[in-house]
Amino acid sequence: MNKVGEISFKEIKRISPSQFFSMKNCAYKSLLAEAFDKKPLLPLSPNAYFGTVLHKMLEMTAKGIIKNENDLNIEFAKQVKILEDDLRDKGFSFFVPLKIKLRNFGLKKVQLKKYLRNNLEQPIKSGKTNLYSEKWFESQDKLIGGKIDLIIETGDDIEIIDFKTGTVTHDLLDDEGEVLSDVKNEYKEQLKLYAYLYFENTNKFPTSLSLVDLAKQKFTIDFSEEECKRVFDEAKTLLKTTNGSISTRSFLAHPKEENCKYCLYRPACSFFQQKLDEADFSFNDVLGVIKNVRIFQNGNVSVFLQNGNKIMTIKNFSFEDFDELNKNISKQIRIYNVTKEAAEYVYSVTDTTMIYE
Ligand code: SF4
Repeated sequence: MNKVGEISFKEIKRISPSQFFSMKNCAYKSLLAEAFDKKPLLPLSPNAYFGTVLHKMLEMTAKGIIKNENDLNIEFAKQVKILEDDLRDKGFSFFVPLKIKLRNFGLKKVQLKKYLRNNLEQPIKSGKTNLYSEKWFESQDKLIGGKIDLIIETGDDIEIIDFKTGTVTHDLLDDEGEVLSDVKNEYKEQLKLYAYLYFENTNKFPTSLSLVDLAKQKFTIDFSEEECKRVFDEAKTLLKTTNGSISTRSFLAHPKEENCKYCLYRPACSFFQQKLDEADFSFNDVLGVIKNVRIFQNGNVSVFLQNGNKIMTIKNFSFEDFDELNKNISKQIRIYNVTKEAAEYVYSVTDTTMIYE
């Protein structure tokens, strides 16, 4: 059974453009991440790990390292192998082989191939073009820093590109109630931060900011220099306020479903634990006192947890878990990453389920 132990908070030295939105939503999450040296307390989803492979492939295609389908097949197999070895090292063998464990594995590879074909059909810009990929920029005071996926400089044209392997837009309702699709705010702000970082380092503003997705769709972000400066200042203020909250212990935490659902520091978060204590059943995590542990003929184990006057059943633990659970009867535990069954207060264990006391 896992334990969190004493949390020793540390100041966050630098905020990255890709982290800004998450920090705005719950600054406490960023402090927990720093306190645990960015080592998550719960496993990421296999899709999140796979996203890093896709991102690398997009970058290599845009840079011209992957020139044809053969290159793509070789590099893809290589990157998947590196990731699978890493997952095994981390003790996450249950995610391997990715080809079988990920529902969209084949689809994503097809999308990469389409992306490559579209890339080959792009007209080459005239004039001398400089490409910089994964280039690190930081502000003069070092409070903001991050890698820009791709910078294309052609004469006075400077384009900053960020690759996204997931959905770039979200739907909004306009004044007339019509559904509009717009680029997510978090991505707009991320690119504006990159623009200002670029400016601080080169004395020039980029002329365009773009997001490119796997379907090779390009989304251009409107921006002004003032807006970029405003977001830049906002990020620095947020960093300072967040660090300031360590000494005052007035943490900026926002325990809401959309923030906490994917937070990998839930086991260390007292605000989130309070939600579970109050028997908030909107999450895929449960808290309660072990009332009973039962083993079935097929070797499956069920745990019965009491929270208030509710009894929850968590099914499908393995035979090996029985002794550990049984010797902790009457103890309060928290079980993270379970799935809800159709019956009320019944849950099942998943590959990523973890128990904390
Ligand atoms: S669990 Fe929720 S409230 Fe707690 S740190 Fe994570 S996002 Fe913030």
